[in-house]
Amino acid sequence: MRRIIAGNWKMNPTTAENAVNLAKGVDERLEGINDLEKIIFPPFVYIPLIMENVRSVEIGAQNVFYELSGAYTGEVSPSMLLDLGVKWVIIGHSERRNILHEDDESIIRKVKSSLEVGLKVILCVGEKLHERELFRHKEVVKRQLDGIPDDENLVIAYEPVWAIGTGRNARVEQIEEMHEMIKSITGKKVLYGGSVKPENASELASAKNVDGFLVGGASLEADSFHKIALALRNQYLTSSK
Ligand code: PEP
Repeated sequence: MRRIIAGNWKMNPTTAENAVNLAKGVDERLEGINDLEKIIFPPFVYIPLIMENVRSVEIGAQNVFYELSGAYTGEVSPSMLLDLGVKWVIIGHSERRNILHEDDESIIRKVKSSLEVGLKVILCVGEKLHERELFRHKEVVKRQLDGIPDDENLVIAYEPVWAIGTGRNARVEQIEEMHEMIKSITGKKVLYGGSVKPENASELASAKNVDGFLVGGASLEADSFHKIALALRNQYLTSSK
């Protein structure tokens, strides 16, 4: 089973030139790594241009709508992404849940409609800090997983909200506890996301049931993303000896 290294660029970089340069830098560095699935998630507007400039990484979108067409101003449909050649989509990222107020129901609709057209989906789940402090982290994530379809193209990313963009990653035992639960409920690959950096990637990759990383900040620097990919790959090679 190939592990996944995924880079979520969020609303960065802010020019087409910088986006293409970053994509090319990542593509060149990751070209020789064949035993990982490698995906970058640029902002929508740069996707076509980036596709013309990479060959070793797959391209995904950071969001999608659940309807396929119609009067939904500002939205992009799963079939449009597929038509463009996009293979993957991130759904339910905590920034969309918390800043854009997406709820569990619309997120599950997005997941179903994307899988139905043939996109591969990374569904993000994870608890907020106060929910963990109240020991409600398992209950919250179980609720976020409620109603997910059983589809081979679905991958889950466990991203505790308190670890995203904060520099504070979850501890190995916290990751193992949550990944084991998510795996037992879904049977899917489970990625970890939350302040993964070159410095902590080897340790986090050694946690049980970590099938890859979803990386935010450190994916905006080609060298850092490459180092994380190498740590993931090396840890996997060591553990499968
Ligand atoms: C993310 O945005 O999915 C993420 C994990 O961000 P960061 O790596 O910056 O914490």
